[in-house]
Amino acid sequence: MTSPTVKSSGFRLERHGLDLRFRSVTLTARERIAPDYVRVRLSGSDLEGFDSPGCDDHMRLFFPAGPVSSVEEMRAAPSREYTPLNWGEDWLEVEFAVHGDEGVAARWAATAPLGSTIGVGGPRGSQVIEGTPDSWMLAGDETAIPAIRRFARALPADAPARIVVEVTSAADEVWIDAPVAVEWLHRRGAPAGSALIAFLNGLTAADRPGDDPFAFIAAEQQIVKPGRALLERWGIPSEQAIVKGYWKRGEAEYHAPH
Ligand SMILES: Cc1cc2nc3c(=O)[nH]c(=O)nc-3n(C[C@H](O)[C@H](O)[C@H](O)COP(=O)(O)OP(=O)(O)OC[C@H]3O[C@@H](n4cnc5c(N)ncnc54)[C@H](O)[C@@H]3O)c2cc1C
Repeated sequence: MTSPTVKSSGFRLERHGLDLRFRSVTLTARERIAPDYVRVRLSGSDLEGFDSPGCDDHMRLFFPAGPVSSVEEMRAAPSREYTPLNWGEDWLEVEFAVHGDEGVAARWAATAPLGSTIGVGGPRGSQVIEGTPDSWMLAGDETAIPAIRRFARALPADAPARIVVEVTSAADEVWIDAPVAVEWLHRRGAPAGSALIAFLNGLTAADRPGDDPFAFIAAEQQIVKPGRALLERWGIPSEQAIVKGYWKRGEAEYHAPH
């Protein structure tokens, strides 16, 4: 089967470096928006000047076991990557997928007392869409919901778009503000990623949403191969898409290749 070609592209992904800053923030609010999904508000004057131009930016959050007395001590604490969702002069919201009682980050998000302090490093770089894709494909699991929310805000109201999110069951669906209906996949008891992989593998060249689409696909690491195969079938150059493993089954502190 031949891949459809993307003719002249009206957009590209541009990389921007950002000054790497390290900040201390305090947990000031927590909302459980689904049984295994938590939004937290982090506050503090250190957040002045915080910025995150790219929808799939990530920062590194540092989780000390108790109070720390220096930046060095904070930086020695376990850290994990998260997506800045919303922010203002002195606050930042982050959403966490909670997975059982595993994971230093997920456990912290679910149970840390209000007033707990953590560190925020970065983001130290961004990929920003310059120009306008004629269509969009956004797909991921719970860990990609914050990035998908940010891309969804950028969607023009009339652009063809598909937003596909895998969660465990209907109870885990969360509201995503978007100009198109979100398609929810339920993995139920199957391994994370399996429903999304089956969905991506079932898309043919004819399912490409437009001539010049942008694609963002992120979930458990096994999504990368079928995600790249879809780009190939749709004739999307890899520089015009983001396909990323956001975590890896059985591996703590997974570092996604950037
Ligand atoms: C660029 C980027 C942005 C990200 N943004 C977000 C975000 O905004 N929100 C978010 O929730 N996650 C996000 N993630 C994923 C998050 O960094 C990982 O899920 C991380 O491993 C969670 O850390 P932890 O301490 O809870 O678990 P870890 O200590 O890293 O892992 C402990 C165990 O839990 C497993 N595990 C890790 N994550 C999950 C999961 N989601 N479901 C089931 N099992 C899991 C691991 O395989 C391991 O066996 C992002 C990742 C990347 C690379």
